[in-house]
Amino acid sequence: MVNSIEGKVVVITGASSGIGETTARYLAAKGAKVVLGARREDNLSKIVTEINKTEGVASFQKCDVTKRKDVEALVKKAIDDFLKIDVMINNAGLMAIAPLEELKIDEWESMIDINIKGVLYGIAATLPIFKKQGYGHYINISSVAGVKVFSPGGTVYSATKFALRALSEGLRHEVGGKIRTTCIEPGAVATELPAGTTHLESANKLASVFNDAIPAEAVAKAICYALEQPQEVDINEIALRPTVQEF
Ligand code: NDP
Repeated sequence: MVNSIEGKVVVITGASSGIGETTARYLAAKGAKVVLGARREDNLSKIVTEINKTEGVASFQKCDVTKRKDVEALVKKAIDDFLKIDVMINNAGLMAIAPLEELKIDEWESMIDINIKGVLYGIAATLPIFKKQGYGHYINISSVAGVKVFSPGGTVYSATKFALRALSEGLRHEVGGKIRTTCIEPGAVATELPAGTTHLESANKLASVFNDAIPAEAVAKAICYALEQPQEVDINEIALRPTVQEF
């Protein structure tokens, strides 16, 4: 039996562009109530207005995932508006590519704070709710760079995305039974992500990888597939990449 998207309350971090935005629109069109979080409030407001105009149901909360209180406020917004949370999509991310010897330590810290700690805050804010409800579904957005080290240049980014796979598997093992966990590992997807890279040579290399990028809707559909499975089926990992992508 298909587990309908209709009526599911879905919280999405990093929903102001790219995969998060597209997933919000995609799931809302299927009847989910979506709660969007990110730092760019103008983007969120515009997306939510558009979703609500097309008979979807959406709300937003400004949220910097490096701030635990912001993530808690995002989750509270979902409960205040819709009384429950079915799905937490930990999607916010930063990809700052540069060789280690460039010592872009501030960027390493930002990636760790957003890509790892931001996800932990998302888990911390929702786990007591999921346990109380007796159901819940985590979708963590890792990367093919979390399966294979994207080197040179992507070592720290890869480390954060490997960490997400470890977190997802540990989470599944610890709280499985009623709570589902899916780790998504996309290859190149056409979004604003490459803009996070300030190192010129790495940015040029990335541009050629992203020439073959697939649309963000491909990821939204993979997420939807995991959500639609019956409650007793937990899709734990989905890797997807452009057919022509070697990495
Ligand atoms: P985008 O750059 O378009 O989206 C990233 C999102 O993360 C934005 O909405 C941004 O919003 C948000 N974000 C960044 N920092 C923070 C923060 N501190 N607090 C809250 N939100 C934040 O790229 P994608 O859509 O591609 O990225 C989404 C996820 O997908 C990331 O985790 C990325 O690593 C992963 N991914 C992407 C791939 C790709 O090829 N595009 C491939 C594999 C994985 P704002 O700036 O408004 O806060």
